[in-house]
Amino acid sequence: MKIHIISVLPELLSSPFSHSILKRAQQKELVNLQIHNLRDYSTDKHKSVDDYAFGGGAGMVMMMEPIVNCIEHLQKSTVFEEVIYMSPDGELLNQSLSNKISTLKNIIILCGHYKGIDERLRTHFVTKEISIGDYVLSGGELAAAVLCDSVIRLLPGVLSDETSALTDSFQDDLLAPPVYTRPAEFRGLKVPDVLLSGHAGEIEKWRFDQSLQRTQLRRPDLLKDY
Ligand code: SAH
Repeated sequence: MKIHIISVLPELLSSPFSHSILKRAQQKELVNLQIHNLRDYSTDKHKSVDDYAFGGGAGMVMMMEPIVNCIEHLQKSTVFEEVIYMSPDGELLNQSLSNKISTLKNIIILCGHYKGIDERLRTHFVTKEISIGDYVLSGGELAAAVLCDSVIRLLPGVLSDETSALTDSFQDDLLAPPVYTRPAEFRGLKVPDVLLSGHAGEIEKWRFDQSLQRTQLRRPDLLKDY
């Protein structure tokens, strides 16, 4: 999968992709991640990317030209299945949407700033808009990092069997069961006997029951389709 991220603050994106699973996924060439500095596509001498909002009011708006220049430059060599704009009024990100995006080969992710981007970009150049939650961030970079992390860990070969994404919360509309590690007893706090029993079938049943109970208690909304 190839992911191109367009950002006015590329520094914000360097750390999330330089460690652990996301770093290894790139080293193994399971994902090719490229970050483009929007200012490189600005044609004015101050490298500006934003301007005043028509009609007045507080806050700057990201201009069309640098963003269109960057998107069209990338489209010269690649056909993109989606041009995604991170936006608080977009489709709410969930596991099912991450699963769908993980099947795509080439995507662009556009990070907004200030008051957002010129509306004509949204209607004519962006093909999908995604929000990571009902709150407002200062820029789209952290949201893009969240989207990329949730998608990249689903790519075949990125996670080992032991950490398979299939046993994580939301994959089957259930929350994950509780997990424990050594020691089996710490200050009198014991690990459930069944997990020490060695009975694979009973352990699986216990985990399923725990998942169900936890989902009923914490996220009953997930069970409506169950
Ligand atoms: N004026 C806009 C908010 C702009 S916030 C509004 O009220 O809807 C600046 C940028 O941060 C946005 O362009 C977007 O790219 C990003 N952003 C903010 N909150 C986000 C969220 N919840 N999900 C995804 N991106 C978000």
